[in-house]
Amino acid sequence: MSNFNNIETKLIHGGIDGDKTTGAVNVPIYQTSTYKQAGLGENTGWEYSRTGNPTRAALETLIAELEGGVAGFAFASGMAATTTVLSLFKQGDRIIISSNVYGGTFRVLDKVFKNLGITYSIEDTTDLKLLESKITPDVKAFFVESPANPLLTVTDLAGVAAIAKKHNILTIVDNTFMTPYLQRPIELGADIVVHSATKYLGGHSDLVAGLAVVNSKELAERLAFTQNATGAVLGPFDSFLLIRGIKTLGVRLDRHTENAETIAKYLEKHEAVKHVYYPGLPTAQGYEINKKQAKNGGAMISFELRENYDIKKFFKALKLVSLAESLGGVESLVCHPATMTHASIPKEIREKVGITDGLIRLSVGIEKVDDIIADVNAAIEAAKA
Ligand SMILES: *Cc1c(COP(=O)(O)O)cnc(C)c1O
Repeated sequence: MSNFNNIETKLIHGGIDGDKTTGAVNVPIYQTSTYKQAGLGENTGWEYSRTGNPTRAALETLIAELEGGVAGFAFASGMAATTTVLSLFKQGDRIIISSNVYGGTFRVLDKVFKNLGITYSIEDTTDLKLLESKITPDVKAFFVESPANPLLTVTDLAGVAAIAKKHNILTIVDNTFMTPYLQRPIELGADIVVHSATKYLGGHSDLVAGLAVVNSKELAERLAFTQNATGAVLGPFDSFLLIRGIKTLGVRLDRHTENAETIAKYLEKHEAVKHVYYPGLPTAQGYEINKKQAKNGGAMISFELRENYDIKKFFKALKLVSLAESLGGVESLVCHPATMTHASIPKEIREKVGITDGLIRLSVGIEKVDDIIADVNAAIEAAKA
């Protein structure tokens, strides 16, 4: 553990810094499945790489320190992290999830865990009174995201965690959209944080990975057991890449969020834009709560074009910004929630919750902001009927 408490420094020197044996400033890639034992019962502390690998361990220590938790765990994807965390529950348990939780989280609960007797219910977690009224004896956890996809809905994380504590249930937060640089749910009272490290933590769209952090020794032991038992661990090379990505998280997010604030303000004034969803705008839902619990509004923006703009033409006309799934990389990406991330939701329900056909989600990259704005603006022009 480093003695420097500023997160900007911890991102670079936190966890296990460098290599003691050689002085290498980077943690080596221990590309090994097993470790030689000197004799029966005499090992180096490393036995088999599903159970533990030094490169992965360096990453796990780092993320635990960044989130302010007791222990970290690295997985082969964000969904592997979530699935392993959900495996802590048993038949008869119910999880309350926020209404706009990541689609994959909904899918694994609905199509995998439900068959095993672990059920879920979907609630509007922005309404704390309503949320508390939905707690039944079988509810064992809240699973929330803030801001949540795609309308960047803000949930009061400290408020949710306080209700959970009162009823002796766990709070699990998917912190993918904010990362510990912008928001630390454990400090707000959460028990478990999960990440798709594929996004901002990796940061370069060249890696699929997941992380989890817990706030107690008891949960650490249970999750370590489950991680080893179920085995969806992150490999040594990907662990190295993720440590490498995390080193620049601070500078990347400073630029990502500065760009996002500029673009959100620009879009808000644009005559073609009906509505901008960005938690960093004072007019946004949950602006005050987000300001209290996070450093800023992050770098995800959703906006809705007016009905007389042709969305197909908009996407076709973009030159710099790519139409693609995923988010959080250095390059700006757009997606169309209605036909991409949220296509499985029936149109009437989608429209009711605000995921209209005109909605565009923008993952703001770190290019020169003028270039992103020029590209988006040209595409809006081209989309004019
Ligand atoms: C992408 C994503 C996930 C899933 O992560 P993978 O790495 O794709 O498995 C989970 N939660 C959120 C918020 C995401 O954006």
